[in-house]
Amino acid sequence: MTPNSKKKARFLAAGSSLRTRMIAAFALFSVIVLAVLWVFQTVLLDDIYSNLKIRDLDHCADELAKAAATMDAESLHTYAGDIAAQYEACVSVYHIMDTIRGRMGSKLFDHHLNATCYVHNIRAEHMLRQLYQRAAENSGSWTERIRLDSMFGGTDTDSGENVIQVRLVLADEREYMILCNTELVPLGSTVKTLRALLFWISGILLPVAVILAVILSARISKPIREMSAEASKLAIGDYHVNFDGGTCTETMNLSATLNRAAYELSKLDQMQKDLIANVSHDLRTPLTLIAGYTEAMRDLPGEATPENMQIVIDETNRLTNLVQDMLEVSRYQGGRQELRIERFNFTEVVRRTLDRNAKLREHDGFTITFESTQDVYVQADENRILQVIYNLLGNAVNYTGEDKTVLIRQTVTEGEEKRVLLEVIDTGIGIPEEELPLVWERYYKVNDFHKRANMGTGLGLSIVKSILLLHGARFGVNSKVGQGSNFWFELKITD
Ligand code: ADP
Repeated sequence: MTPNSKKKARFLAAGSSLRTRMIAAFALFSVIVLAVLWVFQTVLLDDIYSNLKIRDLDHCADELAKAAATMDAESLHTYAGDIAAQYEACVSVYHIMDTIRGRMGSKLFDHHLNATCYVHNIRAEHMLRQLYQRAAENSGSWTERIRLDSMFGGTDTDSGENVIQVRLVLADEREYMILCNTELVPLGSTVKTLRALLFWISGILLPVAVILAVILSARISKPIREMSAEASKLAIGDYHVNFDGGTCTETMNLSATLNRAAYELSKLDQMQKDLIANVSHDLRTPLTLIAGYTEAMRDLPGEATPENMQIVIDETNRLTNLVQDMLEVSRYQGGRQELRIERFNFTEVVRRTLDRNAKLREHDGFTITFESTQDVYVQADENRILQVIYNLLGNAVNYTGEDKTVLIRQTVTEGEEKRVLLEVIDTGIGIPEEELPLVWERYYKVNDFHKRANMGTGLGLSIVKSILLLHGARFGVNSKVGQGSNFWFELKITD
C-alpha cells in the first residue's frame, strides 16, 4: 500500500456519512442563526433602539430649524404638529425675547404626544435658560440625554430616558429656541419577551432542522447508494446495469455519465471478444494453409512447386501483417509511438505508393487512378503517412464496387494556411451514416462480410486515426450506402 492510498483508506475509515454531515451542518446553521438573533435582539437591542430614536430626533429638530428660518409663526405651528407626529416626538418652540435682561421668552406653541416628556414638564425659567446657554455654546445645536427619575426625583429604575434636541434659529429679527424630545422606553420587558420567544423558537427550530436534514440526506444519499451498488456490479464485469440519479441535477449527471461509461465498457468488452474470435479465425486460416501446403510438400513428390511455395510465403506475410497491426495499436494506445518529422515530397510518396500497388492490383483487374495538379511538400513522419495511405488504399480496394476502380485525388486548398487534401474514393458498398463515427474505433467492423480475400482485423482505421491525430491533421469520411466511400485527410503544406 502506498502512503497515499494509506492516507485515503484512513480518511475513508474516518469519513462520516452524508446524513451525519448534513444533520451536523443543519444543526450548526440553526445554532448560528439563533446565536446571531440572540445577540441582536437581547444584547444590542437597546443600543440599536436608542441610536435610531436619537437619529430620528436629530432629523426632526433639523427640519423644524429649517422651517423656522423661513416660515411665519402660524405655518410653523401647523408644520411642527405634522413633524412631531411623523417622528413621534414632543416639540416646543420658544420665542426668545431678551436673554441679556434675564427674561427667557415666551412659549410660542408646543405639540406633546407624551405627558411625561421632559420639555412638556419644564416650568422653571432657569431650566430653559440652561438649555439655551448650552445650545448657544455649541453653535446653536445641542443634544442631551436625561433620566426622567432624576428629573422628578423618583426612584423608578424602569422609567426611561428622555433625549432632548435643542436648536437656536435666528430669523429676521426674531430668535427661536426649538426643543424636541423623545422618550427612550425601557426595553427590559421586551427583552424578556424576546428571550422567552427565542427559547421556544430554539426548541422548535433545532428538531425541525434535524428532521429536515434527515429527509434531505435520505433523498440525496438514496440514489448515490443505489448507484454505488450498481457500480459494484459493473466492477465485477456485469454490464447490465442501470444507474438512476434521482431528481438532483448533479446525481442525474453522474448517473448519465456512469450509464455511458457502462455502455462504452460493454461495447469494448464485446469488441474484445469479437477480436479474439476474429484474430483466432484470422490466424487459424493462414496457419491451416501453411501447415497443409508444407506437409504436402514434405510428403508428396512434385508438390514443392513455386506456386505452392508462394502461397506459403503469402500466408506467412499475412500473419506477419496481422501481428504487426496488433503491436502497432497497442503501441499507439500506450502513447509510446513517436513521430520522426521531416520535410518530404508528399505527392511523390503518394505516387510511388500507388504505382507499386497499381502494378500488383492490375493483375486482379483493379484500376487505381491518381489525380494531382502539382507536387507539394509537407512536414510529417513519412513512414507513418505511408502507412495511412496503405491502409486507406487497402480498404478502398477491399470494399470498392464491381467496377474495381479506386480514385486517389490530391487537391491543394488555399486559405489562411495552404493545405493538401488527399481523398481515397471507392465505388463500393459504402457505410451507413450511423456507423460512420464508429469505423475509426479499434476492432470495429461494419459487418463481418469481407468482399475480398484481403481480410481485415478492424484495426486499420484505428491506426490511421492515431497517426493523423499525432500529426494534428484533419481527417474524415463521407460515404453513401451502395455508392461508395471517400476517406480523406489534410496536411499543412510547407515551402
Ligand atoms: P478492416 O481491417 O476490417 O478493414 P478497418 O479499421 O480498416 O478494419 O476498417 C473498419 C471497418 O470500416 C471495416 O471493417 C469496414 O466495415 C469499414 N470500412 C473501412 N473502409 C471502408 C470502405 N472503403 N468502404 C466501406 N466500408 C469500409
